[in-house]
Amino acid sequence: MNTQLLHDNYSINEKGHFAVRGHDTVELAEKYGTPLYVIDEDKVREMCRTYKNAVKKHFDDADILYASKALSFKGMYEIAKEEGMCVDAVSVGEIYTAISAGFPAERIYFHGNNKMYEDIEFAIKNGVGCFVADNCEELDFIDEISKKYGKTQNVLLRITPGIDPHTHAKIATGNVDSKFGEAIETGQALDFVKHALSKANVNLLGIHCHVGSQSFDPQPFIDACEIMTKFAAEIKEKCSYKIKVLDLGGGFGVRYLPTEENLDIEWMICEIAKTVKKTVADNGISMPKIMFEPGRSLVAAAGVTLYTVGHIKTIPGYKNYIPVNGGMSDNPRYALYESPYYCLIANKANEEMNFHADVVGSCCESGDIIQPDVDIQKAQYGDILAVCVTGAYNYSMSSNYNRFLKPALVLVSKDGVRVGVKRETLEDLTRNDV
Ligand SMILES: *Cc1c(COP(=O)(O)O)cnc(C)c1O
Repeated sequence: MNTQLLHDNYSINEKGHFAVRGHDTVELAEKYGTPLYVIDEDKVREMCRTYKNAVKKHFDDADILYASKALSFKGMYEIAKEEGMCVDAVSVGEIYTAISAGFPAERIYFHGNNKMYEDIEFAIKNGVGCFVADNCEELDFIDEISKKYGKTQNVLLRITPGIDPHTHAKIATGNVDSKFGEAIETGQALDFVKHALSKANVNLLGIHCHVGSQSFDPQPFIDACEIMTKFAAEIKEKCSYKIKVLDLGGGFGVRYLPTEENLDIEWMICEIAKTVKKTVADNGISMPKIMFEPGRSLVAAAGVTLYTVGHIKTIPGYKNYIPVNGGMSDNPRYALYESPYYCLIANKANEEMNFHADVVGSCCESGDIIQPDVDIQKAQYGDILAVCVTGAYNYSMSSNYNRFLKPALVLVSKDGVRVGVKRETLEDLTRNDV
């Protein structure tokens, strides 16, 4: 076998076909069509439990918030509910989807750097449990609207700790000049806290930060924790207010390639917990409730995208192209971030990976690349090409560019297969055209 499998839910079966949670992907492609998002429900649940157990072991009081922008559809919120998770939502659309799935509104945390008046009103009317407020003007709106509805709204404040997490610039969010939150360095964060405390219909719970994404190193979390606990001590001294919640955000790394490691979540949480305990003691504050917000790492490895291979092109002396019947419309991440992906031919999973090619999509853009320079099995028209670790930020970033239909999404588990999202139809495409 020449395939180094990335995650324990991926395997090669007796037919030499790639399988996810024991389900033959070639059969899935045949039955449900391509492109197809396959999500391993058991893997998602396993990851939820891994996080929950890890924080339970290391903290007296902690919560895991699923950052649902990573993968948002009703079935995901049902799983999150059953697993006892809280969720982050960043838009009215995500809140609506969660509530439609029966997810308890009080366990929703409403994020976002630019919540408009109507968004805030929607969330308050629907009983969203907590806002992660981004700026003072937002607090004014939350206070005013809460008053109108006779409510007091719980809030966390998004703080910019001033950390460069050494990841890709577009997914780094903790530096001072970020569009998110208020910075400690400029003094705006302290004013933000004072502002929150001055509002009668705002109940300040604590502070939040999120320093980036795809981190395999506890260091950015440790740095953030040191800065945030010091800031909590300053708040205590200058505002006589003790924070009850410290939310350290998400950004835990996921293995996309065989050359990358598989992050040990339990170890990561343990390392962070040591710093939390130490810095809380050093700064003379009482232990707050600790929150983490993993998105990617809860769902990425659960997902695989299946495509059908189209017309292979060889340009002698230059390169080979393997085009698939999807592309940046269902996975824009290489185009956006040059994200790495591991690809294989699902129906030839045991064959030698000695064909060098760019796997490209069908959109009318040269930049429509799923993954350049892959070593893959020799492909031909009609083969099933699998792209691994697509559970996060693929379906949720999909579009109808070029009027491609959004793929179906199926949930697989040891119990079977069920459709989570139906394939779009041509009628869906023109539904709102007048
Ligand atoms: C995107 C985001 C997350 C999740 O990040 P991952 O890298 O997917 O874990 C968590 N918190 C906030 C505020 C975010 O914006």
